[in-house]
Amino acid sequence: MAIKTINPYNNKEIKSFEEFSEEAVEKKIAQADKTYQKWKTIAIKQRAELLMNVASIFRKRKEELAKLITLEMGKLIAQSEAEVEMCASVYEYYAKNAADFLEDKPIEIKDGKAFVRYTPIGIILAVEPWNYPYNQVARVAAPNIMAGNVIMVKHASNVPQCAAAIEEIFREAGAEDGIYTNLFLSSSRIAKLAEDPRIVGLSLTGSEKAGASLAEAAGKNLKKSVLELGGSDPFIILEDADLEKAVKNAVKGRFGNMGQACTSSKRIIAVGKIADEFLEKFKEKVTGLKVGDPMERDTEVGPLSSEEAAQKIEKQVNDTVKSGAKLVLGGKRIDREGAFYEPTILTDIKPGMVAYHEEIFGPVASFYKVKDEKEAIALANDSTFGLGGSVFSENIDRAVEVASQIETGMVFINEHVASRPDLPFGGTKRSGYGRELSELGIEEFVNKKLIRIS
Ligand code: NAP
Repeated sequence: MAIKTINPYNNKEIKSFEEFSEEAVEKKIAQADKTYQKWKTIAIKQRAELLMNVASIFRKRKEELAKLITLEMGKLIAQSEAEVEMCASVYEYYAKNAADFLEDKPIEIKDGKAFVRYTPIGIILAVEPWNYPYNQVARVAAPNIMAGNVIMVKHASNVPQCAAAIEEIFREAGAEDGIYTNLFLSSSRIAKLAEDPRIVGLSLTGSEKAGASLAEAAGKNLKKSVLELGGSDPFIILEDADLEKAVKNAVKGRFGNMGQACTSSKRIIAVGKIADEFLEKFKEKVTGLKVGDPMERDTEVGPLSSEEAAQKIEKQVNDTVKSGAKLVLGGKRIDREGAFYEPTILTDIKPGMVAYHEEIFGPVASFYKVKDEKEAIALANDSTFGLGGSVFSENIDRAVEVASQIETGMVFINEHVASRPDLPFGGTKRSGYGRELSELGIEEFVNKKLIRIS
């Protein structure tokens, strides 16, 4: 099956790539395994040099690499450039900090000595999504390559040019074949790959369905997995919040990347008397954003990642409205070619409606007005997801108290959720398990080996 790249701005096919044959995949695994045997013994300083080179190539080729993202999945060009920068900073972060993270961890015991040493384990297979095509990969590749593992990546089928570019950058940076391997494969072949004894760990960022399928394959083969799945993050505005700040963050948190982020502020929950004023200001900011070509710098609303994605959003919103929710803004496709959908705000959403329960992976804000803090927390937790969330309040102690009651892996106070290299990223409930980024991210796929000296 060919892997096609289609520009969602006009739905025209740009290029297509052939899937790798069984024989080609076998050769690549053999090469990765051979390289791993060497790479695991290489000094950490040398590993760091490679990643610093990777980072500097990302920065040097920023413009060209950003254009590829925009071409393949429609991200606004300035946001694509910011992603390239972010991705470079992830490689640099692990290059600079991994040696400290991987140091032996002494254990205080009464008789003799003991410590834990982190050692590499082998080939890690990463299955990655299209929404941040370089950065999602960096989050897995950087810590693992520093830890002495090697990486094989099956990227999303709609971003093959970005996928190929990452492998090319590693080569340009001086990586031996097998340290970073791109696999052009359909997702139906992942379960079989999980059986290969040379592949020792699996990581997936994507939907619940894909995550469950990968976890099943990993479980069957007794292999460790990390899952970064969907989310429906609550964005709680308490009565004493700085409204301007909350509005600004809500716009960016919900409509950045056209709403296609796992940690988008999908459910906006405003408490008490500030709710109406918040909604009015929020709507005002979102109304009249400039729709256009994502390659143009003054465009504020670009296409979604694909025609199918736009159709899915259209159906989710229509179903929610049919069952009684109200549209404050938007609610339909934009009348032009390409995968466009209007920035949308929904209110009066009740349990049983699609928007109440499902993740809406696009520019649709679900707005809820609640009586008090207790109701806000209950509503925030009435979700199968548990990825991130935000709390806005001028009283930090109170905000921290609310944050501690929210069932998610991350809560940001007075800010929308954002990923950065030095903070752990990941969820609970059906948003997955394990962590990426920070020190925690490098601990997922290492053998934490106890050494006891008596
Ligand atoms: P998706 O369909 O699950 O695709 C993600 C990746 O999984 C792609 O490489 C895809 O390959 C592969 N895949 C699909 N089905 C699979 C299966 N049965 N077995 C193995 N691999 C499979 O995800 P999406 O809908 O494009 O992306 C959006 C989802 O990702 C949202 O739910 C979003 O919240 C989540 N996400 C989570 C995070 C996080 O860090 N928590 C970050 C970003 C996105 P193909 O493209 O070839 O199908």
